[in-house]
Amino acid sequence: MAKIKREKIIIDIEDKLPVLPLKDTIIFPYVIYPLLIGREASIKAVQEALLHEKLVLLVAQKDLLKENPSRFDLYRVGVVARILQILKLPNGLVKVLVEGLIRARIKRFLSNKSDFLRARFEIVPEIEKVTTQNKAALRHVISQFKEYVLLNRDIPDEILLSIESIQNVQRISDFIAAHVTKRLEEKQHLLEAFSVEDELLMLAEMLQVEKNILQIEKDIDDQIRQRMQGSQRNFYLQEQLRVIRQELGEEDEGYSELKSLEEKIGKAKLPHAAQERATEELNKLKYTPPMSPEYTVIRNYLDWLLVMPWSKKTKDNLDLISATKILDEDHYGLKKPKERILEHLAVMKLMKKVKGPILCFVGPPGVGKTSLGKSIARALNRQFVRISLGGIRDEAEIRGHRRTYIGSLPGRIIQSLKKAGTKNPVFLLDEVDKMSIDFRGDPSAALLEVLDPEQNITFSDHYIEVEFDLSEVLFITTANVRHNIPAPLVDRMEVIDLPGYMEYDKLEIARRHLTPKQLSENGLKSKNIKFIDSAIFNIIRQYTREAGVRNLERNISNVCRKVAKEIVLNRSKKAFVITSRNLAKYLGVRKYSEKKAEEKDQIGSATGLAWTEFGGDILQIEVTLMKGKSGLTLTGKLGDVMKESGQAALSYIRSNTDLFGIKLDFFDGHEIHVHVPEGAIPKDGPSAGITIAVAMISAITKKAIVKELAMTGEITLRGNVLPIGGLTEKLLAARRSGIKKVLIPGKNKKDLEEIPSRVLKGIELIFVNSMMDVLDQAFLNGFLKKKNSSNG
Ligand code: ADP
Repeated sequence: MAKIKREKIIIDIEDKLPVLPLKDTIIFPYVIYPLLIGREASIKAVQEALLHEKLVLLVAQKDLLKENPSRFDLYRVGVVARILQILKLPNGLVKVLVEGLIRARIKRFLSNKSDFLRARFEIVPEIEKVTTQNKAALRHVISQFKEYVLLNRDIPDEILLSIESIQNVQRISDFIAAHVTKRLEEKQHLLEAFSVEDELLMLAEMLQVEKNILQIEKDIDDQIRQRMQGSQRNFYLQEQLRVIRQELGEEDEGYSELKSLEEKIGKAKLPHAAQERATEELNKLKYTPPMSPEYTVIRNYLDWLLVMPWSKKTKDNLDLISATKILDEDHYGLKKPKERILEHLAVMKLMKKVKGPILCFVGPPGVGKTSLGKSIARALNRQFVRISLGGIRDEAEIRGHRRTYIGSLPGRIIQSLKKAGTKNPVFLLDEVDKMSIDFRGDPSAALLEVLDPEQNITFSDHYIEVEFDLSEVLFITTANVRHNIPAPLVDRMEVIDLPGYMEYDKLEIARRHLTPKQLSENGLKSKNIKFIDSAIFNIIRQYTREAGVRNLERNISNVCRKVAKEIVLNRSKKAFVITSRNLAKYLGVRKYSEKKAEEKDQIGSATGLAWTEFGGDILQIEVTLMKGKSGLTLTGKLGDVMKESGQAALSYIRSNTDLFGIKLDFFDGHEIHVHVPEGAIPKDGPSAGITIAVAMISAITKKAIVKELAMTGEITLRGNVLPIGGLTEKLLAARRSGIKKVLIPGKNKKDLEEIPSRVLKGIELIFVNSMMDVLDQAFLNGFLKKKNSSNG
């Protein structure tokens, strides 16, 4: 038997009672609480309790999902409670009103024949008195609790009144515990506290955390409410303003804007999908406050929809005779490219649509790729637009950003079409070889879709969203170097090479096109200034080094500007004649001295031919030998492939020492140094292979290489010579430098058909298939015939 003191009465209880497991709640002493029970065992436990002073032991179960908890599923601390009322509900459940009396610690569960649990327990005595130890803690917890209740909208403030009336420390503590947290585990923890001090400490901690959470929730709530109120208020005020204006008979701007948009959409003759979209957006706009950012976003979008050339186009002029005339008018030379362009136009005329592979002009800067594109547009009577793809890494540059982005825009394709104002312009995509790929997506994949006639009827831009038909656009692409164009793109293109011009061509281009153009651009008349041919030649040779004519044009423009200044400043009326003598007065000291072929036979220095992005150039390769450590050193601007060519050349020589009469141990004590002076920066490639080998053999055997000779070709380890690229550019460079004889791989013979005969004039071409052929030509009197076994 145990005794509980309750409000001046003492209750005697047995120390064993039926157990009522609690599923989703924990009941503290002094709390009156209605429980809904339905489990068979629980109902039996209650019935048993009614026989014994209406007392039960309330114990929470650890896992609330357990339907029939065993003794192991229950906590060991609970509350002795009295049943105050029982109500049988029609659905078979029983509502039991209980009042918690006092904490009880279970000693053991009793073996039981009946279906419900019984347990023997001991009572945990209550602390009533406020002691100095717990006084401070109590005060702190109460003040925290007050703040907590004020923040918590789920707990009525009246609860604070009830606390005031309680005297007993334990009771206050339990009362707060019952309200602080909803988490069962934490509640159980509080119930199991060893002492009231412990419980208060735990409560203080919990209240702090809960208060913080509530405070954050409240802050968020306040912010949202403020924002809502702000925009609603704006909307309301603007509506009022509108009404007032109407009353005053003033035109309402927003309203009239919507009206005019509506009219525009009606008149714009948009395709069906775009029309629908525009109407949808307009309706959205009507309900958006004009000052809000969304309004601007929708407004901009509508502007784009309205301004796109959905159906506007120019009528093609497919008269080939006039097209030929225009192409010839705009460009000197370029016979083959022009022919190919005319064929393209002829097919367009017959097919009545843009068809066939995309033209791709490939060549160094300034050879007229862009201006050919412009000419085509002029010949066809189409608009011309161009974008440069150089350096584009992001797919969005082509396809646009979604509208969710602030400040998002359509991609460059759509932007350019807007600029063109028609749906069938000539569209030049410059530098397709300079795109790069990174994490933002592969722009070349997007470009593929743009160029593919199967797909581009329904091109979709992320911003515009409505599909746009690109099938009538005439796309033309340009690139500097063919092998840098992404492979899937090359597949869809027809490459037209524009390798560069010879001096004579440049002179003609300058006379016929560049000078007249620059005169007019600088406000000069032909009576003001005259360029003598020798002056133009000097600009070409001494102020520019290029395959195209861009710098030539720039220099001519410089001269024109200086003359214009003279005329204005000194009111000069005389005609300015530009000659090779007075050129430096306008352009300053010359920038380049012509690189010339070697004028003497040389030992250890051979002339190669290189192909750079700026056209062809000659390339001196020097080799020296140093006694001391052995090995190969390569210096100068060399790429990896060129270094490997050096290694291959050396290996070839080392495995054929017999042939060249080189002593076997020669390589042990000699370092071989190969140097390619800067100046011409060749594109990396294997075509310097035979040149390096010749320079090495010459240095080792001390035999001189024939002057005015240049060579190009890849070397294999067994001394075979493999074909190379960029032959035209290389031969142009050889001619510029006064080379008389050029060794080229036998396998390149077929490329000669492509090369204009003028380029080959004055150059002796020798085809070589192996190093033996090369050596025969490179050394005076042939190499093998006069083999010399001395090797220094
Ligand atoms: P690219 O696009 O190949 O870099 P551009 O088309 O910009 O070169 O040409 C540079 C300048 O040279 C332009 O003013 C162009 O008109 C002119 N040009 C190039 N080739 C010729 C040519 N064959 N006839 C007339 N002008 C030319």
